[in-house]
Amino acid sequence: MSTDWNTRTKLVHEGVRRSQYGEMAEAIFMTQGFVYPSAEAAEQRFVAIGEDEFIYARYGNPTTRMFEDRIAAIEGTEDAFATASGMAAVNGALTSLVKAGDHVVAAKQMFGSCLYVLEVLARFGVEVTLIDGTDLDAWRSSVREGTKFVFFESVSNPGLEVIDIKSVAEIAHAKGAMVVVDNVFSTPVYTRAVALGADVVIYSTTKHIDGGGRALGGVVCGTKEYIRGTLEPYLKHTGAAMSPFTAWIMLNGLQTLDLRVRAQTENAAKVAEALMASDKISRVSYPGHASHPQHALVMDQMGAGGTMVTFEVAGGKEAAFKMLNAMEIIKISNNLGDSKSIATHPATTTHQRLPQDQKDELGITSGLIRLSLGIEDARDLVADITKALAAI
Ligand SMILES: *Cc1c(COP(=O)(O)O)cnc(C)c1O
Repeated sequence: MSTDWNTRTKLVHEGVRRSQYGEMAEAIFMTQGFVYPSAEAAEQRFVAIGEDEFIYARYGNPTTRMFEDRIAAIEGTEDAFATASGMAAVNGALTSLVKAGDHVVAAKQMFGSCLYVLEVLARFGVEVTLIDGTDLDAWRSSVREGTKFVFFESVSNPGLEVIDIKSVAEIAHAKGAMVVVDNVFSTPVYTRAVALGADVVIYSTTKHIDGGGRALGGVVCGTKEYIRGTLEPYLKHTGAAMSPFTAWIMLNGLQTLDLRVRAQTENAAKVAEALMASDKISRVSYPGHASHPQHALVMDQMGAGGTMVTFEVAGGKEAAFKMLNAMEIIKISNNLGDSKSIATHPATTTHQRLPQDQKDELGITSGLIRLSLGIEDARDLVADITKALAAI
């Protein structure tokens, strides 16, 4: 494949492995195993596996490999490993790097399940320091000689706080720590975390990459040394592989990723404007709007505001629920990045598990709603929001 291709071309053509039939669409190799032409060939494959050879779908499959090659080409990394879900990717990426006694630093503004993985590591003797990821001084004073990795979401869920990948990577690398970035909200369309200094980039492909809310999936991108030397041994023996069918869904998702994410971003900007105009909303956070506290960083790191908007309904949970229940096009659910617009009430769903003091610290108030904008017509979305606001 060509490194000269631009993103949209790579999203459609990169990584294709055609069989002897020359099929146009990516084939689904729905097989767990592979037949060896001889016992000697089987022995040889276990000694050294070739580029186009596979042993067992827990560690590799042609359809899954097409997806891994395509996302690695987009991300600009040497390799990638696809997993059964985004959380399998986060768990694999982090757990494969540490042992008891190691130290790691992570941003506290994070998806509840990512925080849970860090709690599990702490249970096994890893020292976990949680800090305010937007505070560069906090990174400077927490990362120390011997810190194994730093971990953060480049745009936090659900607060939409943006973490400065380049600056944090400089701080981490000066102490020899690896930089692991969950880039789900920003998507590869807007942020190439590796170009900014990240060593490992994680996606929940369940979100924008599928884009249709059909399948769970995840992927970890990094150097060949990290992916094959550190991550693959952990994942292949613990079993969180992506199925070939899911990989096929994700390959199809990637083809339209750039088009969808840009259309969703246009919708997000228009919906954010409509929310800002209402006196029933006390706060709107949209990274693409000049009022976002890190707007300059957003423009530098992402170049656009992304597909998510969070806002706070004045009147707490009761008013927020009224608004949610009055929406017709925008569905109440907890996925994001979907072609369909989705509204979530984090305090009672995705972040329900967190104790109240942690919710307060993260700004997950009872009136907070997280919107993931889809690809519908913006006029219909704004009308849906306007109607729902009137119902409060
Ligand atoms: C959804 C999400 C995950 C987890 O992905 P799953 O595919 O649901 O397991 C991890 N990080 C972020 C930021 C997410 O939004």
